[in-house]
Amino acid sequence: MSRVYNFSAGPAMLPEEVLKEAAEEMLDYRGSGQSVMEMSHRSKTYDAIIKEAEKDLRELMNIPDNYKVLFLQGGASLFFAQVPMNLMKNKKAGYILTGQWAKKAYQEAKIYGEAVELASSADKTFSYIPDCSDLPITDDMDYVYICENNTIYGTKYKKLPDTKGKILVSDVSSCFLSEPVDVTKYGVIYGGVQKNIGPAGCVIAIIREDLISDDVLPGTPTMMKWKTQADNDSLYNTPPCYTIYICGKVFKWLKAQGGLEAIQKKNIEKAQILYDFLDSSKMFKGTVVKEDRSLMNVPFVTGNEELDANFVKEATAAGFVNLKGHRTVGGMRASIYNAMPMEGVKKLVEFMEKFEKENS
Ligand SMILES: *Cc1c(COP(=O)(O)O)cnc(C)c1O
Repeated sequence: MSRVYNFSAGPAMLPEEVLKEAAEEMLDYRGSGQSVMEMSHRSKTYDAIIKEAEKDLRELMNIPDNYKVLFLQGGASLFFAQVPMNLMKNKKAGYILTGQWAKKAYQEAKIYGEAVELASSADKTFSYIPDCSDLPITDDMDYVYICENNTIYGTKYKKLPDTKGKILVSDVSSCFLSEPVDVTKYGVIYGGVQKNIGPAGCVIAIIREDLISDDVLPGTPTMMKWKTQADNDSLYNTPPCYTIYICGKVFKWLKAQGGLEAIQKKNIEKAQILYDFLDSSKMFKGTVVKEDRSLMNVPFVTGNEELDANFVKEATAAGFVNLKGHRTVGGMRASIYNAMPMEGVKKLVEFMEKFEKENS
């Protein structure tokens, strides 16, 4: 068996310990005689799996009792619509545009009401986070929306925007569980799990209870009403059972690593290795302003498309896969989520050093 270092933005690497444990339990989950894939979501065994996953997540993130945790389907992209459907009482909300995912959420919200652009970093290919200290937020806005870590462009809010008392809704798909967060600062935190937590197929949403009600936009499908999901503990219909089971294992893995503070420390150290190299290299350059750099997604370029393509090709052959950057940025992108071992980043940097020597 030979595993590669997978720098994919998502679906992405999972901890090897988790995969091994899942493999061991594949045919017979703890004496049940079945795989978790084959199990009724109404069984006692499965109920214990989903309840324990929620309990561990609550512990990891220190989620207060007045927040619900929902396991949903449809990806982050379907959640873009659920936000206005459940929160747009005045049919008006503010959006900060820091990249493609924020823009898509903003465009989706426009279907349901007035989505106002509060700030944007489109002028410089989303290579920075705009100043959010005094945004043109008006009293009639229902919420302020951000994409907290911009997967494609590699930027991250280091400080949350001043929402002037409005509810903050945050897409944390690509920075979920990468560092401790103060849940009380948000109305809604959500993300697809396939970036930093588990396999594709599930969105985890952490929603303040008072934001969950029957007062939704007319025409909201039953499944997209948060109250339906909250009242049924995410078991209104069949949930993505196996994905939730793997997420549960990743939560246990994170706890064993020492929780989110320990993971943050490791993530800072890991990203620093790559950023330090980018700052010293004559060939490779980071594309993001230093103060807004993400710990999870690191885009970089050589400035020469042919060289970029050669690098990606040679890196792939050497076992560093999925390094090709998003087509709107070009160049390369290394996604170094929680499950990417330190060794993977060190070896990538060694490979980059070698490539630089050979090609200059
Ligand atoms: C990947 C991604 C999405 C889209 O997720 P899907 O689950 O594929 O819909 C949304 N937001 C962010 C920040 C992402 O990284």
